[in-house]
Amino acid sequence: MKIHNFSAGPCILPETVLNEAAQAVSNFNNLGLSLVEISHRSPDFVAVMEEARSLVKELLHLPDRFDVLFLQGGASLGFLTAAYNFLPEGGRAAYIDSGTWANKAVKEAKHLGGIDVIGSSKASNYNEIPDLGAVPNGSAYLHYTSNNTIFGTQFSGTPQAEAPLIADMSSDIFSREFDANPYHLIYAGAQKNMGPAGTVMYAFDTEAVGKTGRSIPSYLDLQVHASKDSMFNTPSVFPVYVTMLTLRWIKSMGGVKAMEERNARKAALIYGEIDRNDLFEGHAAGNSRSTMNATFRLKEDTKAAAFDTLWKEAGISGIKGHRSVGGYRASMYNALPEESVQVLVDAMQELERTA
Ligand SMILES: *Cc1c(COP(=O)(O)O)cnc(C)c1O
Repeated sequence: MKIHNFSAGPCILPETVLNEAAQAVSNFNNLGLSLVEISHRSPDFVAVMEEARSLVKELLHLPDRFDVLFLQGGASLGFLTAAYNFLPEGGRAAYIDSGTWANKAVKEAKHLGGIDVIGSSKASNYNEIPDLGAVPNGSAYLHYTSNNTIFGTQFSGTPQAEAPLIADMSSDIFSREFDANPYHLIYAGAQKNMGPAGTVMYAFDTEAVGKTGRSIPSYLDLQVHASKDSMFNTPSVFPVYVTMLTLRWIKSMGGVKAMEERNARKAALIYGEIDRNDLFEGHAAGNSRSTMNATFRLKEDTKAAAFDTLWKEAGISGIKGHRSVGGYRASMYNALPEESVQVLVDAMQELERTA
């Protein structure tokens, strides 16, 4: 039976990418060696790293002053890396508290400076993108989380602010077009919309970095990594390779614009059903809904057993909601086919007919 994988992360990757990755694990580039048993300094792997970095620049239309790295530690270390590289010694930065990950970013940055939270939706269990106060004068940057994976909310566009932007785009990178010019840093863990767990992408403005006046431990210093072409230490070769293949796939599908159109169709399909079907209600407020993670619940818990049987029989996997929201979460990352969303909608309609 075909499995429809709605997992929130790690999550679905294109089938062609998985097949190619499997081949590379047994015999990479016809070297007679596995991808995971060759030197990261071999010409074959250096070419992978370079292609991955340049595909990011191409697909995101990054300005020439940007550099791209693939490091480790996940987006969770990114919270600290962002502050180390862009929050000056003794300085302040503004943050938006729009969900669990956004809140963790605040917590980490507080190790390094004064943090002003200029908007929070914590009181409503993060069911919306909060209204924003002004960014205080002198803030080094405004940090935000473009898509709140757990709560299913997403900024509808780039926040307008007087300060440069830093964004954790872990769960919607490459899902829609945006202008990178206002950003000092964009970072994203691979395992939501880009590749397997184990690498995190940093895209940053090389003219804005290195001005904090603080001493930065080597691994956390983006300039150290940039000076070594993202090979300061052994990179996570397999996640970087699979990410590179996924980026090739995005390009072959028509690029980020094509992903954006497909993602909009998938979101319209699921939200249309959540709104139409009287058995269900959404978690996220209408104007904050995420195209990546749709959070919803049954109005009556007594129907849960019947619904769970229906979606399981349809081959659906990974739609149980996060414990802090409950209900269901359908994650519809780039690689999820439109057909899978239709299968979920069919199960919701079948429940309406039979429950
Ligand atoms: C999953 C996630 C993270 C955490 O990523 P790790 O790679 O596990 O550190 C951070 N931010 C967002 C938006 C996420 O979805």
